[in-house]
Amino acid sequence: MSVVIALDGPAGAGKSSIAKKAAKALDYIYVDTGALYRTIGLAASRENVEPKPSKEVEELLDKINVDLTFNSLGEQVVLLDGEDVSGEIRTPEASMMASKISAVPAVRAYLLDLQRNMAKTHNVIMDGRDIGTVVLPNAKVKIFLTASPEARAQRRYKELCEKGMDVKYEDVLNDVIQRDYNDTHRDVAPLKPADGCVIVDTTELDFEQSVDKIISVIKENI
Ligand code: C5P
Repeated sequence: MSVVIALDGPAGAGKSSIAKKAAKALDYIYVDTGALYRTIGLAASRENVEPKPSKEVEELLDKINVDLTFNSLGEQVVLLDGEDVSGEIRTPEASMMASKISAVPAVRAYLLDLQRNMAKTHNVIMDGRDIGTVVLPNAKVKIFLTASPEARAQRRYKELCEKGMDVKYEDVLNDVIQRDYNDTHRDVAPLKPADGCVIVDTTELDFEQSVDKIISVIKENI
């Protein structure tokens, strides 16, 4: 049977970069479920569909095909109707669209099987908001990775600047706060620590310390 690690937490806690490195060290695959919500958000933007519960969103879901695959470096590639959209889903606009559309129950239901099937066939670290609470409640290890909103905004700001994007720190901080609010206040699968999870706060930890902490929590609990 595969080993499943559920990793949840708010936007910008460093989940993806920390989990990627930990997965490599442990020889697990890393699944970033946020990319799936981003991809549906992108599909909605392209078709001018509002990110709220509606017949239009349901028709969109009937029409599109979202899939996950891995490239030769073992990195996740997300496909929208066969097109690699892994780069296009990384803008601040795509983040906000994903945050809004992820509150639509039909969208969450649509992605459930895809996520569960990945965990059936591979040893995974799966990163998201509801992995330990809804998607894989029987995961061997559940981790809730968090940090203060300011620390998370600072890291995201640096990342976007390094990619050459013209952004203001205050806007990034407001986005983080708004997405936290959206994620924790939605009716379906709101962001919260799962029962039995280990909470890891990285506000005072640097990247390498955070990776070491996650690896030691996993090793202690499997
Ligand atoms: O993790 P990332 O920031 O890429 O996720 C984008 C958005 O998708 C989040 O703001 C969150 O609203 C949503 N999401 C979710 N459930 C997940 C993963 C992401 O609702 N499992």
